Amino acid sequence: MRLQKHEHLYQLTFMPRLFPVNCYLIEEKDGLTLVDAAMTSSAASILSAAETIGKPIRKIVLTHAHSDHIGALDKLKKALPHAEVFMAETEWKLLSGEFSLKANEPPIKGGFPKNIQTKPTVYLTEGDRIDSLEVIAAPGHSPGMLAFFDHRNGVLLAGDSFQLRGGMAVAGDIRWRFPFPAWGTWNKELSIASAQKLVDLEPKLLAVGHGDLLHNPVPKMQQAIQRARKGLNSHA
Ligand SMILES: [Zn+2]
Repeated sequence: MRLQKHEHLYQLTFMPRLFPVNCYLIEEKDGLTLVDAAMTSSAASILSAAETIGKPIRKIVLTHAHSDHIGALDKLKKALPHAEVFMAETEWKLLSGEFSLKANEPPIKGGFPKNIQTKPTVYLTEGDRIDSLEVIAAPGHSPGMLAFFDHRNGVLLAGDSFQLRGGMAVAGDIRWRFPFPAWGTWNKELSIASAQKLVDLEPKLLAVGHGDLLHNPVPKMQQAIQRARKGLNSHA
């Protein structure tokens, strides 16, 4: 596991060379908020990173419920029984098999584990605050995808709305050196609209599920949106 720090944010990267998966610890006054829960095998490293930082994990927040973002949740909840768990209701419904599509919506792709036991304490909706983080609805990659914006320093935690590994892209726009986020994307058109919404926040740092931290990301986010729009038109 690799650990990188930027102000209040710690990026934890698992399997950095093969299939790099990030999750994040956000430092608040009285504890840490974990954003995403990586893979099942990541639990012990996440707990030891919190120990190194020296604050307890009080909140676990999920961008979406794909198995490389929620994998360690049950193990972490067992180790941290008092930690509150936050996610979008839509993502919980996808996990529990209660989700149904509306007319004209594309089919759901795979990637949602079926064995998660931990129920969320709180369902999140746009505009909610988890200490310093504001909840932004960013559907597209997954139907209930959320992003989180830290108002203290302009850090945007975008989950898989964008990828940086294998070339920067909006979710659904395929990069052949790392095609997995695109393969897992539910609705590319919606994901482009959400990407535009995220760039309008004018983040100072972009932190995603797959790839390194990106400082001053706005110009590259705009380029990625243009690239994705072109791809959409050429397939129309
Ligand atoms: Zn995903």
